[in-house]
Amino acid sequence: MTMVSPAAVTYPPTRLPASPPTERLSLVVVGHVDHGKSTIIGRLLADTGSLPDGKLEQIRQLCARTARPFEYAFLLDALKDERAQGITIDSARVFFTSAKRTYVIIDAPGHIEFLKNMVSGAARAASAFLVIDAREGIQENTRRHGYLMGMLGIRQVAVLINKMDLVNYDERAYRSLVVEFGRFLGQVGVVPAGFIPVSGAQGDNLTEPSAAMSWYRGPTALEMLDGFSPEPTPLEKPFRMPVQDVYKFTAQGDDRRIIAGTVESGRLAVGDTVVFHPSGKRSRVRSIEKFNGSAPPHTGAGSATGFTLDEQIYVARGQIAAREGEPAPKAASRLAVSLFWLGKRPLVTGRDYILKLGSARVRARLESVERVIDASDLELTEHKPRVDRHDVADCILRLKTPVALDLVDELAGTSRFVLVDDYEISGGGIVRSVAGEPGRSALGLPSRLAVVEEVEQELDADAASLGPWLAAEDRVVYRLAGGREVEPLWAAAVMLLEAGASVLLGIAPDAREQVSRLTRSLDPARVETRWVTAAS
Ligand code: GDP
Repeated sequence: MTMVSPAAVTYPPTRLPASPPTERLSLVVVGHVDHGKSTIIGRLLADTGSLPDGKLEQIRQLCARTARPFEYAFLLDALKDERAQGITIDSARVFFTSAKRTYVIIDAPGHIEFLKNMVSGAARAASAFLVIDAREGIQENTRRHGYLMGMLGIRQVAVLINKMDLVNYDERAYRSLVVEFGRFLGQVGVVPAGFIPVSGAQGDNLTEPSAAMSWYRGPTALEMLDGFSPEPTPLEKPFRMPVQDVYKFTAQGDDRRIIAGTVESGRLAVGDTVVFHPSGKRSRVRSIEKFNGSAPPHTGAGSATGFTLDEQIYVARGQIAAREGEPAPKAASRLAVSLFWLGKRPLVTGRDYILKLGSARVRARLESVERVIDASDLELTEHKPRVDRHDVADCILRLKTPVALDLVDELAGTSRFVLVDDYEISGGGIVRSVAGEPGRSALGLPSRLAVVEEVEQELDADAASLGPWLAAEDRVVYRLAGGREVEPLWAAAVMLLEAGASVLLGIAPDAREQVSRLTRSLDPARVETRWVTAAS
């Protein structure tokens, strides 16, 4: 399929298989502009025979008529246009099919939409292709998108080194990008499943191994996708039902109660033991009730359900019902989250918000901001004290009372929350981990680390203002500064932080990147970090 002139290319049949596989996997294709995302998608659609009949020919003729060279990227545009007009292969999304399963391409028309969808869970991608132009190499958005994959918890990521035809299919060009980008991805916590040298325009290594790159022995892009794990359907996950209401039977002498809600995931049958979280109370399911119908013996994900219990335990709205014997939800009041902020006012510390998760509503405060990405230009900031409109941020939230929840990697449905500011839904996100109660400092509070870029070891006014924050609640504060050697300084800082002290760390401005990386290894539940950057 490689090294042939476009006229000699034979096109595969443009017909969908008689019965497409039912298993599905969602895929998002990201990367710097013009690195070949649309071309790769168009080519995958064509080469897997997933296009509507005649579509390819139609676009080729249109290109010929308008004297434009044929581009696979036009296929995607044409499908999108049809979608906009309502004449479409599918009402929502673009699909292609391998022998194994159907792939749903999650449209990422812009950063803001993509982030909003990903964070809110409206359309979460289970896998991603990160595309890099072999000739242009790593660009700003390549890095940012790599970073986002890590932050959003997309675990199945393959890097496609595209336009290999433009670098004469040179193995060294591929290898040097693998080393350089692999190192970067390691820093942001992404372990790619592989780096595949491809040509979107020529079709190399997408669905067929490339004859022009016999030095590459790894899988094609399609084989890589087929090797990814499918998303389990919610029925196959542990049972979760946020309790919406508890109804009393009204008949005389009947003191049973119906626990009602919508099943988020899993199944429940009469005779199962249910445990309510965070209270931990448990009882056996006596009956499953159906409004206006006969009582079914079991229920499952997606159903509005009510059930009665053998014993009359106290159950309240806001708790999550789980099934004994399955992994339990967590109960926590400090949450490490990724969130997307839409509020007109920024999300700030010292202000009360309402967090809604499942059917629970609790008062919440922003404790600290770990890092922020401005979604409009994907600019990353490591030391910003608030979250502005359209920012995406990793934060720690502190709740007034513990709620039951799951982590996004375990069960997305019960890890999603929204934040309400003054009666308005102003943000939404997912719980990445439970921050746990900090316990290293004498007072059971997290240690505090302030990193200050010092010019000639002089503390400026901004840095000096960190004093009260560092010393609050009678923390012992150490000031460490000096020299160009970051490693020994850092080792000392970590020891002091672990001992419960606070540290003011002075670094040379050129050590900023290195220290910024090191601070990421600190457990945000145990160490709060602030930065003061020298004005440049
Ligand atoms: P996107 O902005 O990432 O979606 O990039 P496009 O798919 O629109 O591609 C941008 C340009 O690069 C188009 O002119 C494509 O024809 C060209 N292109 C994409 N993939 C390849 C490739 O593998 N080889 C060559 N030579 N050109 C490519």
